[in-house]
Amino acid sequence: MRTVYFDNAATTRPRQEVVAAMLPYLGGKYGNPSSIYGLAREARAALDEAREKVAAILGADAREIIFTGSGTEADNTAIKGVAFANRDRGDHIITSAIEHHAVLDSVKRLEKRGFRATYLPVDSYGIVDPADVEAAITDKTILISIMHANNEVGTIEPIEEIAKIAKKHGVYFHTDAVQTTGHIPVDVNRLGVDLLSLSAHKFYGPKGVGALYVRRGVRMERYIDGGGQERNRRAGTENVAGIIGLAKALELAVAEMEHEMERVSRLRDRLIAGVMNRIGHVRLNGHPTQRLPGNASFCFEFIEGESLLLNLDMLGVCGSSGSACTSGSLEPSHVLLAMGIPHEVAHGSLRLTLGRYNTEEDVDYVLEHLPGIVEKLRAMSPFGAEASFGGDSCGKCEEAPQPVAERR
Ligand SMILES: *Cc1c(COP(=O)(O)O)cnc(C)c1O
Repeated sequence: MRTVYFDNAATTRPRQEVVAAMLPYLGGKYGNPSSIYGLAREARAALDEAREKVAAILGADAREIIFTGSGTEADNTAIKGVAFANRDRGDHIITSAIEHHAVLDSVKRLEKRGFRATYLPVDSYGIVDPADVEAAITDKTILISIMHANNEVGTIEPIEEIAKIAKKHGVYFHTDAVQTTGHIPVDVNRLGVDLLSLSAHKFYGPKGVGALYVRRGVRMERYIDGGGQERNRRAGTENVAGIIGLAKALELAVAEMEHEMERVSRLRDRLIAGVMNRIGHVRLNGHPTQRLPGNASFCFEFIEGESLLLNLDMLGVCGSSGSACTSGSLEPSHVLLAMGIPHEVAHGSLRLTLGRYNTEEDVDYVLEHLPGIVEKLRAMSPFGAEASFGGDSCGKCEEAPQPVAERR
């Protein structure tokens, strides 16, 4: 049976070149970068080189890069670190309703510790309005955190505009760029951000390693106590092999970015057009064009996303419903609900995220099987009778329904 991996927003397959670059540091080159003999200096040199490489790609200085244990840790460090270090200046944080839980739950934790938070709404495409950001700023605001692109629906946020507003008001600005780094251009100065999170396993690197960019001069408390690693900002012996893998993966991703953006976007558009044309009562989630090259997210009315996933899995297709973190829970995605999608429709969500190993044949395989699965599930569904037998819903309608956002 064919395997079609369409869950690249959850994680990606590490590249062979990345694994090869890491291997020596999982074996013979095991020195602790903090020690002083040759074996250790070799690890230190490789670590320094990786840091230089990552910094150069992001438009940063090597001293502004902190390697972390994940994208989640980078988000936690940025938000809690800035909040605790700037308490004397204010206690207010601005974020959006559609952030990853690494950001949302960090902010919620701070609320329990006496901070105040504003969760900005989004429009039906999932876009944060920069005017809303500006209106929410008070003289007590110390941090704004808005993601570069959303992991569920793929919408790319107007980060440059928000950064200008943050700068004008003297407020630190963090962006979670875990979905964009290695996929679309990410330059800390062009974006204008003070802090930025990324994660290696989202761009064909290893799991369990991320990085946080912190602009020089940003007041941030250290989040993990212990040794003096990472210029005293993140204790713990470095994940040398992982960091080398991260740098290698980023270097390779950036080298082929232009080509891959175009190729993957074309596959995505083929998938979206195919789904919208062949299946009735389906909505495209997120912005039609201002979206990640690999993201195709839908809501199928009258069915459960979970049932769709199980049926796709039987055909070797890996996808996701909502986000990986919310799969298995009965609550529909907080992102879809924030975009104004009704509860019952949000339950029918399916996210297919494409990447560098996918081909046109993968897309066509899914397009061949998905309409039948949807039809079968709707026929079985207690509220699907109307959908399955009524009007334009048989999958052969001439005009595809418009995405929900365009109907508003
Ligand atoms: C995957 C993801 C994270 C978490 O990164 P991990 O390295 O898996 O902890 C954070 N934010 C976004 C937007 C993500 O997609």
